Amino acid sequence: MEAHGPVQLITYADRLAGDIPTLTRLLRSEPFASAFKGVHILPFFTPFDGADAGFDPEDHTQVDPRLGTWDDVRELSGMHTTMVDLIVNHVSAGSAAFQDVVERGRDSEFAPMFLTFSTVFPHGATEEQLTAIYRPRPGLPFTPIKLGGELRLVWTTFTSQQIDIDIHSEPGRAYLASILDAVADAGVTLVRLDAVGYAVKVPGSSSFMVPESFEFIASFTEQARARGVDVLVEVHSYYKRQMEIAASVDLVYDFALPPLVLHALYTGEAQVLAHWLEIRPTNAVTVLDTHDGIGVIDAGPAGPDEPGLLDPQQIDELVEGIHEHSGGTSREATGAAASNLDLYQVNCTFYDALGADDARYLAARAIQFFTPGIPQVYYAGALAARNDVALLRETAVGRDINRPYYDVDSLVEALGRKVVRSLMALCAFRSAHPAFDGVCEVSTEGTTLTMVRRGEAVPDASATLVVDLATGEASIEWTGPVASGRTDDLLGNPPRT
Ligand code: BGC
Repeated sequence: MEAHGPVQLITYADRLAGDIPTLTRLLRSEPFASAFKGVHILPFFTPFDGADAGFDPEDHTQVDPRLGTWDDVRELSGMHTTMVDLIVNHVSAGSAAFQDVVERGRDSEFAPMFLTFSTVFPHGATEEQLTAIYRPRPGLPFTPIKLGGELRLVWTTFTSQQIDIDIHSEPGRAYLASILDAVADAGVTLVRLDAVGYAVKVPGSSSFMVPESFEFIASFTEQARARGVDVLVEVHSYYKRQMEIAASVDLVYDFALPPLVLHALYTGEAQVLAHWLEIRPTNAVTVLDTHDGIGVIDAGPAGPDEPGLLDPQQIDELVEGIHEHSGGTSREATGAAASNLDLYQVNCTFYDALGADDARYLAARAIQFFTPGIPQVYYAGALAARNDVALLRETAVGRDINRPYYDVDSLVEALGRKVVRSLMALCAFRSAHPAFDGVCEVSTEGTTLTMVRRGEAVPDASATLVVDLATGEASIEWTGPVASGRTDDLLGNPPRT
């Protein structure tokens, strides 16, 4: 399956616009209206500001009243393709269901909804079985919590406040179905299965993207489709794994693209990126940035016998390169340096990862937009944000370095910057030009990468991107829909349809 479509914005309602109605107004006004035809609204459920920036809902079926209502989401969905998160792996420890279990223990009707050590290992576990469990950071995924007065080991893949759901249990299934109903009813047509790789636990295995996980994704996708909703699977993993996953689901993220684009623009080497562009799955959402960090495992090796797209030394250089380009600020936000759920991601705005170099940044975005798939641009990236070191220091949350808050003044200021205006124009070009629904031809010569897109519905439409990865110079030449054009300066003279 192939996916294509105009550019979508990834954003928090609160951090960009304050609430959902204001976000809707923003998306319907320029320059957003021409740039973005869809939006991934990051968690806006109750509460949107818990232990994991909304990825720990107490009530996933309710819009946090501080941000709006389901009617507001429905209104937004009227004019934009809307994607929301479906947090399948866990809920907040503060949820009414879990609190009932804390109080009543095994007598609670919700007891089967939550995973404990003994649900998964009823006969106990060996050291080997326990160490086989995969987690995005060291340590076992258990938190001792008293349930009905009895101390139990509750399964917590992420923080101790995010309680893993038994997705096969009756109340677990009913819970997930109720969220699907709520989002479908609000006109949402795409859900992102958040952290779904961890959702199925199989004793003795890694409990990460095991065969049973595919079965779960397939049955969930069926339920979603029955409600008119498509499914995007969010998994960070070894690239060959990601290719296997892509072959059996609707849509995946291309998480290898951000590190490979950085590698290419740091080193001037076109080959690794070009190779990935040849083999990558095309049923993908392309990103350079999201609310999480820049994934490293997505481009690296899985072990000595499973080489990555980049070798360990190239990965080290890449990570160091990000820290150098950001003037060291990303180092403060990454790994064990700040409270991070995933140690294998580098926290840095993509703009700072390119040393706030406007030309290289626009070249990177152009590469993303010429790569087949549905392009998504994170709001901090859309506004070419620098690392928010003040916010990082205030909250001590590593990912906050790339999760800035805007108010009217800072938004107006950002929208006035040339790099932002040019990026919005580039988004608008990508969203409107008919060259992007067909094939992509990739070639390289020395440090130059060339990508040619040809329209399928409009066969005369084509667009060619040439980037000198060593210098960051880029040109775009296009034909159709009404005229032909060319620019050698994405910053001063962005392409226009
Ligand atoms: C989300 C993260 C979140 C984690 C746990 C991830 O996949 O993107 O932001 O912390 O899931 O919900």
